[in-house]
Amino acid sequence: MNAPDATYFRKGFGLKQNVEATLSADYSGQIVDLLRARDYLLTVGDVTVRLAREFGFCYGVERAVEYAYQTRHKFPGRRVVLVGEIIHNPHVNQRLQEMGIEILMPGPGGFDYAGIGSEDVVILPAFGVTITDFQTLREKGCVVVDTTCGSVLNVWKRVEVYARDGYTSLIHGKYYHEETRATASQVEKFPGGTYLVVRNMDEAHDVTEYLAGRGDRAAFLAKYGRAASAHFDPDVHLQRIGVANQTTMLARESLAIGEEVGRAMAVAKGEDYRKANFRTFDTICSATQDRQDAVNALLESPPDVMLVIGGYNSSNTLSLAALCAEKVRTYHVEDALCIDPARGAILARDPLSGEQVETLGWLGSGPVNVGLTAGASTPNNKIGDAIARVFATRGIDPAHVR
Ligand code: SF4
Repeated sequence: MNAPDATYFRKGFGLKQNVEATLSADYSGQIVDLLRARDYLLTVGDVTVRLAREFGFCYGVERAVEYAYQTRHKFPGRRVVLVGEIIHNPHVNQRLQEMGIEILMPGPGGFDYAGIGSEDVVILPAFGVTITDFQTLREKGCVVVDTTCGSVLNVWKRVEVYARDGYTSLIHGKYYHEETRATASQVEKFPGGTYLVVRNMDEAHDVTEYLAGRGDRAAFLAKYGRAASAHFDPDVHLQRIGVANQTTMLARESLAIGEEVGRAMAVAKGEDYRKANFRTFDTICSATQDRQDAVNALLESPPDVMLVIGGYNSSNTLSLAALCAEKVRTYHVEDALCIDPARGAILARDPLSGEQVETLGWLGSGPVNVGLTAGASTPNNKIGDAIARVFATRGIDPAHVR
């Protein structure tokens, strides 16, 4: 039997009990606990807040953050470096920095590991890293603590199988997102492995148009140069397609993209060809799906306004905000501080334009019903802060809410 690798860890250090109290102090939230205890509904004065039944920290984020705390505990005297943000929440990343964990941010050419030595401890984030980054770090001989979420690893397996079998991985995602960059890189494990990333149905239509023979090769390459393998050629690499997705996209759109591309291949080349040369697999993670389902359930009785809390670079939060905006007036705030009770103002990202817009009097007057959800990287205490500011906007003392 091989000796266990003393420099690579991905299953925790068995120190849960040592970090539990700190984690709870840093991220749990009294107001959220209260809402849960009251069946996700809280009314004070003429303000009612309804919380979606699935919201906030997902299992992958909880695990990654806890693992980072365990790492600090396990290696108290060592330099600990995190590759990029552990999750897309500034408070969590800042807290890790306060604990002495350095965050290595990427430059235009990616991460620069020149300053990492064999004595260092390096944490990989929940999104994972590219295979090149992984290999570079392993060659350094440093301790690697890998917090890549199991649901992300499942997508990697899918993409690997596509590459092994000669299919181009068509990934519904954002080509610049850490998770998608890591996922796309998995095709490189096989010679000739190829990927193409499409962000939405509009971009998927470029693929279906190409399959229908109406594409322009040069224009396609110009548009997708940064979103595809370096050797990608639409004339060659759209013959066999396997669809996968970034785990945090809008599930409904991912499924529709898979169906549209499969249908276009069948129309262009026949059903038998499609059966032999097209695969699709829903790789949205269950936490993302649960949060989107919970928002849809909440919207069945639409509130007056929806408040969505989470980073502007958090993919799953953007998906939640997009879902809400289809049905009700929606304010996506990065943080409780975006709500200014004194001025009755909110500074929020418009889910359609992506612009940040300040709105005065956003709660109106009279009884108001506020729906609320939060992305997978938003801790409960930050959700509670936002709820307190909603009540404070109507002059209700947060202490009274608690
Ligand atoms: S959103 Fe899904 S894939 Fe991402 S960390 Fe959470 S559980 Fe894992």
